[in-house]
Amino acid sequence: MRQIWCLSGPPLNKYGAEGAKSTLILKGILQEFHKKIKKDDKVNIMLNITKEDIDVLLKLQKAQTETVHIDTFLSETAGEKSALDSRLAEFETSLNKHKKEFEKAGKDCRETEAEILVNEQRIKTSSERLKQVKTNREYQALQREIDDGKKRKEELETLLLKYLEQQESADKIFKEQQADFDQLAEKIRSDKENIDKKSSSHIKLLKKYRTQKETIGKDLDPELLKLFNEIAESNGGLVVAPVKDEVCMGCFMNIPPQLYIEVLRGRSLVMCPQCNRILYHADEE
Ligand SMILES: [Zn+2]
Repeated sequence: MRQIWCLSGPPLNKYGAEGAKSTLILKGILQEFHKKIKKDDKVNIMLNITKEDIDVLLKLQKAQTETVHIDTFLSETAGEKSALDSRLAEFETSLNKHKKEFEKAGKDCRETEAEILVNEQRIKTSSERLKQVKTNREYQALQREIDDGKKRKEELETLLLKYLEQQESADKIFKEQQADFDQLAEKIRSDKENIDKKSSSHIKLLKKYRTQKETIGKDLDPELLKLFNEIAESNGGLVVAPVKDEVCMGCFMNIPPQLYIEVLRGRSLVMCPQCNRILYHADEE
């Protein structure tokens, strides 16, 4: 296997004072990555890299970018689906509220009707007893009972009318909402089905790009591949960035001239001091 992680890189002092500082930053970054990757900090400052390695890194980057795009798409579609579910659940809550109102009005009606019946029976009994009373006092007491009963009956009948109206209006609202709910549920079901269809083709693509990444990754030194994955994780997927006119196209910051020269040479692993991405020289189109 080709030795990419060569320990004998160009000497530090070729960069001069500023270059040495940049190289120290590079060393620090690599040390950090190595601590995470290898759990030791034995790392050389300059690491040799070939033009072929850069080409492989670029291919890997292409597949990586695709997987990031698809991952973003999939998480967005998952978000869309859960937003649709929430909308339906909200509607269902409102529907259930009206259903409960309808049921409550129905219960009130039945209870009032029952009370009217009991009251009527009481009036009837009192009227029967009225025919058999012996004293005036008894007569007056029963008559008062009958009058109170009739008064209560009127109250109950007014109440029943009110409950019947409430029941009718709640029933109307509930039925309308139920129809709207059914329509919405159907629309959401078909929207989710469309989302799933779109997602399934993207899931297939994602598998394809992941396999591609694995295949391409085999052409890289495992350490460099680890570094690639580490940077991908911390940098939102963009690992390899071109440099144009001393500017890193990953973070649009200037890089030190000495590092730029090294990027132009294309023989060393150079990382952007600002965004930690692996830099390469983009050929003019
Ligand atoms: Zn950068």
